[in-house]
Amino acid sequence: MSDAPALSLVGVEKAYNHGAPNEVAVLRGADLDVAQGEVVALVAPSGAGKSTLLHIAGLLDVADAGSVRVSGHETTGLSDRRRTMMRRRDVGFVYQFHHLLPEFTARENIVLPQLANGVAGVEAEARADGLLSSVGVGQRAGHRPAAMSGGEQQRVAFCRALANSPRLLLADEPTGNLDPATSDQVFDMLLQLVRDTGLSALIATHNLGLAARMDRQVRLEDGVVRAM
Ligand code: ADP
Repeated sequence: MSDAPALSLVGVEKAYNHGAPNEVAVLRGADLDVAQGEVVALVAPSGAGKSTLLHIAGLLDVADAGSVRVSGHETTGLSDRRRTMMRRRDVGFVYQFHHLLPEFTARENIVLPQLANGVAGVEAEARADGLLSSVGVGQRAGHRPAAMSGGEQQRVAFCRALANSPRLLLADEPTGNLDPATSDQVFDMLLQLVRDTGLSALIATHNLGLAARMDRQVRLEDGVVRAM
């Protein structure tokens, strides 16, 4: 089990409005492995199904057919409760928009998912502060998202994704909302954080320059994953 891929998708199919006349077949037998410690770029035009694939890989949605394994564990057929537990423990998510809770500070945004996972408050705060410092926003720990720049908000969102030490990071255009210079800098920090923690990552991006900085690039086309 220990050398199993961090993520393994085999023959994954997904259609919206399944069986209805307006069915949209998005994934048509997608296969993808992300090895332990590997950082893979998922490149595709808007509408190709990147978010659908990431949501299925991140156990936020279920496939119509095929197999989804996270760290060697088959997730098909799991109850919602088991799926949620596995997601909280094993997977971190970063979106294009930070989705931080506006009424909480940066530190609290990183503490809350840890409390939900049974971590004690003092320990959770120490981890939050350590993560924030590692991406250069330690001095912002007590600030709410509205008081931060877009780049800072997104760095806090990375820390929140890593709060529970997942094995797999899934990111959907994580710097797509930032200006090019900030995007570059914040993306470097994300990659550094991933490398430092030995995490595996699947990162969707339109940006071929960013994709080239990852270990491997795949594209999603006609509902299947192809090498680039
Ligand atoms: P991407 O992330 O690559 O932009 P998505 O995975 O969001 O693509 O969407 C893929 C396709 O599925 C698009 O054509 C989109 O309109 C369609 N789609 C996404 N979500 C739904 C839904 N809930 N109901 C119907 N169609 C959807």
